[in-house]
Parts: sequence; structure tokens; C-alpha cells
Amino acid sequence: MSDEPLVVVEGLRKVYRSGPKEVVALREVSFVVRPGELVAVRGRSGSGKTTLLNQIGGLDRPDAGRVLVSGQDVTSMSEDALLELRRDVVGFVFQSFGLIPVLSAAENVGVPMRLARMPVEEREARVRMLLALVGLEQHANQRPFELSGGQRQRVAIARSLANRPRLLVADEPTGQLDSQTGRQIMELLRALVRSEGVTALVATHDPSLITLADRVLEISDGVVHEADLAAPAG
Ligand code: ADP
Ligand code: MG
Repeated sequence: MSDEPLVVVEGLRKVYRSGPKEVVALREVSFVVRPGELVAVRGRSGSGKTTLLNQIGGLDRPDAGRVLVSGQDVTSMSEDALLELRRDVVGFVFQSFGLIPVLSAAENVGVPMRLARMPVEEREARVRMLLALVGLEQHANQRPFELSGGQRQRVAIARSLANRPRLLVADEPTGQLDSQTGRQIMELLRALVRSEGVTALVATHDPSLITLADRVLEISDGVVHEADLAAPAG
């Protein structure tokens, strides 16, 4: 296995401007994530978690600094290259699930594979495999409104893995779930990072992830510090 970092963040800075007002959401953020790590990003609301994940996943561009994912410079990529990155290299999980309401669980999971033009038989087999992986093989034909919150997030996680991403980016994936369901989702992410060889960056307040993560990055006012997991939380 290579020791090359999967994600390199260097001197990342992001400023939001609305009229004369400026909000510095990220200041000179630098860190690396190695293959197979599950890294939690912890910080209170407004600290810059979503901004950070959006720059890393190629959903937005910073004002300074750069992000490498799998050696590719995400911050200078063309829009076409970013589309490919978000389809093939990075899988996303959001707090609000982001499922398409008129599609079944299986169809939602299959969407990124259709976009990647995966052959039908391979796609159907992979959808079944992924739904089984997240414990939803019995629910393949149900639409999102027929599923619980935890089940919806499992569908979204299965979908995020559709095209075998190297990196999973999850933004407060348990933010809309009760604590017990949230814990189960975090345990699922922990298990998938081990079994699927994926690397994950998860923004959360959820204490259950903090105990499951390999590393915790603390973010406060756009500044990131490595947390010392041996120290008591405070
Ligand atoms: P978190 O995800 O930790 O709650 P965000 O990354 O969403 O934090 O926000 C960081 C800071 O940037 C906050 O002060 C927020 O108000 C501001 N911000 C986020 N998005 C925008 C935007 N599109 N326009 C202006 N300010 C924004
Ligand atoms: Mg956020």
C-alpha cells in the first residue's frame, strides 16, 4: 500500500463576499488525509465545515491555496474535469439525503452508474450488492417517502459508493437523525471505510463518530487543528 496522501490541502482560503461585507470562512487551512483513513471534521455551526468539504469535493473554488485528490489538483480543474471527479472519484453524502423522490431506492443508487454509462447488467448487480451492503436488500423498490430517515441515509450512502469512489465526503450525515439512528449510520460508515477501501472525511457534531474516527480535525472560525484523541473532550 502506498503512503501517498489521498487528499492534500495546502493554504486553503475562502472568503464570501456579499456587498461590502466579507466573511473569511477558511484561513490558511492545511492538512493531509491518507488512504483508508476515516477523518472527522468537528466544529460548531458556522465554523467552516461545509465550506471546507465543498472545496475538497470540487463543489466550489477557494480564493487561495489548493486541494489535491488522488494527485489531481481539484482547485484548478476545468468544469468538465470536475464533473468527472464528482462522478468517479468523490462520493457525497449530505445531511438532507438528496434522494430523488420519484425514484425507488434501487433507482436512486443506480443514478451515478447511469451517468457513468455502466452496462445495465453490471449496474443492476452492483445496485443489489450496494443495497445489501447497507442492509436494505428488502427495501429496493420503496421510494424515499416510504423509508425512515436512517434508511434514506443508507440509500444515500449506497449511492455515494456507486462508482467506487476513492474518497467519501459526508457533511453532517446524521444531522437529521435521532442519536441512536445516527450512531448506526456512523458505525456503517466506519465499517464501509474498512471493507470498501474507501477514505472518508465526515463533518459532524456527533460524539459517536468522534470515538469511531481515526483522526479528528477541529475547525473553529475557519482554522483547522488536529485534535488530540488521547485528551479528554472539552
Ligand atoms: P458550517 O458548515 O461549519 O456550519 P459553513 O462552511 O457553512 O459552516 O459557513 C462558514 C461561514 O461562512 C459562516 O460564517 C457562514 O455564515 C459563511 N457562509 C457560508 N456560505 C456562505 C455563502 N454562500 N455566502 C456568504 N457567507 C457564507
Ligand atoms: Mg455545514
